[in-house]
Amino acid sequence: MNIKPDLKFVKQIISAGGCSLKKCYQCATCAVVCKLSPDNKPFPRKEMINAQWGLKDKLVSDPDIWLCHQCSDCTAYCPRGAKPGEVIGAIRKLTIAHYAFPEFLAMMVGQIKYLPLLIAFPVLVLLAVLAATGHLNIPQGEIVFGHFLPHTHIDAIFLPVAIFAALVFASGVIRFWRDLQTQCSGNCGQGGLIPSLISVIIEILTHSRFNKCEVNKGRSLAHMGVLYGFIGLAITTALAVFYLYILGQHSPYPQLSPLKIIGNISGIILLVGISLIVLNRFKVKVQASIGSYFDWLFIGVIYLVVLSGLLAEVTRLAGIALLAYPIYFIHLVSVFFLFFYAPYSKLAHMVYRTIALVYAKQKERE
Ligand code: SF4
Ligand code: SF4
Repeated sequence: MNIKPDLKFVKQIISAGGCSLKKCYQCATCAVVCKLSPDNKPFPRKEMINAQWGLKDKLVSDPDIWLCHQCSDCTAYCPRGAKPGEVIGAIRKLTIAHYAFPEFLAMMVGQIKYLPLLIAFPVLVLLAVLAATGHLNIPQGEIVFGHFLPHTHIDAIFLPVAIFAALVFASGVIRFWRDLQTQCSGNCGQGGLIPSLISVIIEILTHSRFNKCEVNKGRSLAHMGVLYGFIGLAITTALAVFYLYILGQHSPYPQLSPLKIIGNISGIILLVGISLIVLNRFKVKVQASIGSYFDWLFIGVIYLVVLSGLLAEVTRLAGIALLAYPIYFIHLVSVFFLFFYAPYSKLAHMVYRTIALVYAKQKERE
């Protein structure tokens, strides 16, 4: 078989956070200490070799990079300080970019110099809609966010955003799944798709794989907080649709309505989860690292979404219109940013990891 080293991809891994890649001398300590690695073709040593050679095709379709939960056990024990956990994290970032479409958006999301442009897009879209509908002012009287931007306008903006993100994800997932099928040659298991999917969902909800890590144990709890926060907010959105379109009730809803209670609790769980992730990153920064721009962009956006949402509610209840409406605008911009760029950001790992875990379960690669 011809091996074609791709030096450009090696450089991309290095600049995406895998700068210690070349220190690896392939001793395999990492593959031995990793509690999540299977006995058959264990990771992450083989990924380190492939990364040193820049074997992009092998790496982006490698399900094992998603079986890794970046717990840093291997990084802590690596005798060369090659930080395999971080190198695999960088490969995951490049894999997300590889399967995303259009590629230039993935490139922009990965580089800080494009951040102002990325923020400008949702700001301009929302300002344009406000200007076109004569809502470019602070409404007088009782604070009702629907007076500022009616739900019909919100739907007209956010529905296309959701459809765009879903289509980009769908195209990436189809290509990723097709590439995964090339990974198994002959002696793999062949479990059913639905039982594998159910088993993976249970695994994700309980974080049973994550809990096996040792060096970075706190990461599992923090990650769970973020996951359940998102699930709670998804339920809140579904309830909002139900209240509005089935019951015909408009916001603001009473503070003790199920929608408000679930929404507020979920926001707080998300805030606690993401704060624990930040604390944890600093706690293990000696053994691992505090993460790349790609990680911190996601953390920053989550903070903005949750804090602007909670603050908009507090200032509305306090009757401070001059603060409530601008903060609500920031909230809308941050939600737009989170979902529109989701297929190119760290949020995409929820999708690709789930697909890779289903594949691994089907092929009995555990
Ligand atoms: S990453 Fe470290 S532990 Fe793993 S093979 Fe390379 S040198 Fe050894
Ligand atoms: S970071 Fe953790 S899960 Fe990933 S390869 Fe290293 S030890 Fe295994």
